[in-house]
Amino acid sequence: MKGKVVIIGRGIIGLSIAYRLVEEGYEVIIIDENPFYKAASWNNAGLISPTFSALSPSIGNLREILKWIFIEHSGIRISFKSLFKNAHWVLRFIKESKKAAELQNMKLIYDMISEAISWYENLSNKIFINFKKDGLLEVFLDKLKFDKRIAFIKKYPEFNKYNILSEKEILELEKSLNQNVCGGIYYYEEYSLDPRLLMQNFTELLKKLSVSFINEKAEYFELTGNYIDYLITDKSKIKADIYVIATGAYRDIYKSLKIRLPIIAGRGYAIITNSKLKLEHHVLGGDYRISFANTYEGNLKATGFLELADVHDEPMRKCYDFLEKTLIKYFPSAKGFGIIDKWVGSRPCTPDLMPIIDKLKENLLVCVGHCRIGVCLAPYSSKLILDLIERGKHDIEQFLLQRFL
Ligand SMILES: Cc1cc2nc3c(=O)[nH]c(=O)nc-3n(C[C@H](O)[C@H](O)[C@H](O)COP(=O)(O)OP(=O)(O)OC[C@H]3O[C@@H](n4cnc5c(N)ncnc54)[C@H](O)[C@@H]3O)c2cc1C
Repeated sequence: MKGKVVIIGRGIIGLSIAYRLVEEGYEVIIIDENPFYKAASWNNAGLISPTFSALSPSIGNLREILKWIFIEHSGIRISFKSLFKNAHWVLRFIKESKKAAELQNMKLIYDMISEAISWYENLSNKIFINFKKDGLLEVFLDKLKFDKRIAFIKKYPEFNKYNILSEKEILELEKSLNQNVCGGIYYYEEYSLDPRLLMQNFTELLKKLSVSFINEKAEYFELTGNYIDYLITDKSKIKADIYVIATGAYRDIYKSLKIRLPIIAGRGYAIITNSKLKLEHHVLGGDYRISFANTYEGNLKATGFLELADVHDEPMRKCYDFLEKTLIKYFPSAKGFGIIDKWVGSRPCTPDLMPIIDKLKENLLVCVGHCRIGVCLAPYSSKLILDLIERGKHDIEQFLLQRFL
């Protein structure tokens, strides 16, 4: 064994790091205080989408984002209370949006996600995660929004792995869509997987590879100088050579370290319906950025929304209603469905929407802040954690905490 590593957090980031490390000969323990469904990784949209993710509205579109906030039914909810509570983060977000880093970051993300595809392909040879290349169909009901989106993506010819489709072409590809759809974009290189299968079956695989799972809350660290001696949980005291924080949008663990990481929860919602309406592709309602797909069991699922709130806040009923109404808008024939599962999860968001992968102490690493593309970036992030452990550094400057200090 090369050494003992404790990972705090059993989301997709923690699991991917565990997999990478156990394959490299480390002894790995994962600690999580919650059941699966409390993780953002549990019920997200499951898109592994290099082109779309690189081209999806980014930090540079601050004006657009601000406009959405004030439009009812925009798919974004930011209360004044949460704006006030997270004022520091919001100011930083505004500052970041003025930087001209957009294209550079897009290329980085595109390359990392392209690498993730072969990683998930390999993983799907070992466990069933329903990984498939079904393409992503971004469709619009509003012509103005469609034209704006086209103008945006055309600014970046580097990522031209898509076809712009007319209303007729869209309806040929996805027959059950609202007949009033005005057009769309087909990203043909995109993949998807079932996030719940991924979490369950990945955990089982790791158990077989001798990764230990402990159901406890990591509370604080005991340190000597810059070195972590112990992790103290609500039930025990754990000693390891290296500790990795992979707690997503949860922030309690930083208190004992007296470090304030700029992470907030961008909450998203999902509903799984009893409708068996079959979609040929993963569909994204571009007007509201809500994704529609069938679960592995064939049920129609809607995922999306962005709500600035605390991870521990009660879910908002309004947000589920919004998903329900939007689903009917795009797929009128599904009307009358029942909801069999509701879910809220927190995207861990940094002010520039890029993760923080860095060393906090001599033997304490952090890998958080993957925002809306954590499943896509998990494989590459785990590689960077291995670099930090074995080389003492990694080469992606954009992911260092230093950028916010
Ligand atoms: C609606 C929605 C749709 C999305 N769609 C996509 C998509 O299509 N593609 C994509 O790539 N990404 C998507 N994402 C983003 C993705 O889900 C996240 O980026 C990713 O899941 C973050 O993973 P994580 O492991 O960092 O955090 P999480 O999955 O939240 O895991 C963190 C874990 O840490 C545990 N934890 C926290 N604190 C402690 C503690 N003190 N002690 C013990 N345990 C602790 C929590 O219980 C939790 O299980 C979406 C997100 C949402 C909300």
